[in-house]
Amino acid sequence: MTQPATIATGKVVSIHYVLTVQGEQIDASPEGEPFEFLAGAGNIVEGLERALLGRLVGESVQVSVSPEQGYGLRDPQGEQEIPRSAFPTDFELEPGMQFGAEDDSGKVVPMWVKTVGAEMLTVDFNHPLAGETLEFQVRVLGIREPTQEERRHGHPHGPHGHQH
Ligand code: ZN
Repeated sequence: MTQPATIATGKVVSIHYVLTVQGEQIDASPEGEPFEFLAGAGNIVEGLERALLGRLVGESVQVSVSPEQGYGLRDPQGEQEIPRSAFPTDFELEPGMQFGAEDDSGKVVPMWVKTVGAEMLTVDFNHPLAGETLEFQVRVLGIREPTQEERRHGHPHGPHGHQH
């Protein structure tokens, strides 16, 4: 008798999810467009991945993910002011925009624009969801083997996966 497929490292998993933070729904996969991830490849936050391991197709899972296993704790030093002149003048800057900035060692780290003033803008190196407890409601829709290419890339492809 074959065992039913369960979520395990190396499988491509499709789910429907709703993400709620402090009682407010902030993200969800559109109905009919499942979200796919490669289990064990860091495609999703650690706490959610852990909670989904071993689950079956058809299962509904409610997971509360701590900041430590989500987008990390907030670093109060992560907020910085930089002059508007560091960007091209014709560049539209808006709160919520994400950029990559090089740190001293040349590593690219993400940052988010918080506020835009005439002279200065405030950027934040914290993920917008850092410090938040993430409430996920997940329905497991499918589990399959990855293609060789997906395994090489470390993420799923296909109509609802990652596009190149
Ligand atoms: Zn790829």
